[in-house]
Amino acid sequence: MEIKVLKDILGANDQMAQNNQQLLDKHNVFAVNLMASPGAGKTSLVLETIKGLGGKVRTGVIEGDISSSIDSKKIAQEGAPVVQINTGGECHLDASMIRNALDNLPLADIELLLVENVGNLVCPAEFNLGEHRKVVVSSVPEGDDKPIKYPAIFLIANAVVLNKTDLLPYVKFDAGKFCEAVRGVNRKVDIFEVSCTTGDGIDRWVSWLLAQMGRK
Ligand code: MG
Ligand code: ZN
Repeated sequence: MEIKVLKDILGANDQMAQNNQQLLDKHNVFAVNLMASPGAGKTSLVLETIKGLGGKVRTGVIEGDISSSIDSKKIAQEGAPVVQINTGGECHLDASMIRNALDNLPLADIELLLVENVGNLVCPAEFNLGEHRKVVVSSVPEGDDKPIKYPAIFLIANAVVLNKTDLLPYVKFDAGKFCEAVRGVNRKVDIFEVSCTTGDGIDRWVSWLLAQMGRK
């Protein structure tokens, strides 16, 4: 029975995710799971967030990719502790992968953990990692219909970041329609319009993050 197998896998994953959250809480680390399709700008958002925090919050990063360490190298250049997970084909991160990464991060030295999930708007929605907040990153070139096509991931998001707003003059994208579609799925979610290229809107996003952490 395939359905039962999937339920068992997700049940075991949820258990491990709970253990991850206990470990994070023990070290006062606030974890955020960043989910998006490939190319939405997750790594750029991680970099801009670290810059935007301006050293106020010690931040660690987990980079999830099917292969390569291109993204983790960019993060390491900013001086943040980073662990690269190569899933070797898996199109999402799961709680056991996060557990391994946590064992390789200096948890006592960080306050915020940004987890960049594998670029995919489908199954990351199903796998809890032990994070405290889930954030979907969307981008202008992807089109304004993503919340309608992938409602499950928008439904579980605590915040949605719309990236690449600097491209709005050049792309057929209706920001009003996008926000309406997001709210159609998830009425209370916070939406942030940002450009990681110009830095527009990053301050509001960073303020939200700090507020979620109980910081100012
Ligand atoms: Mg990336
Ligand atoms: Zn997957």
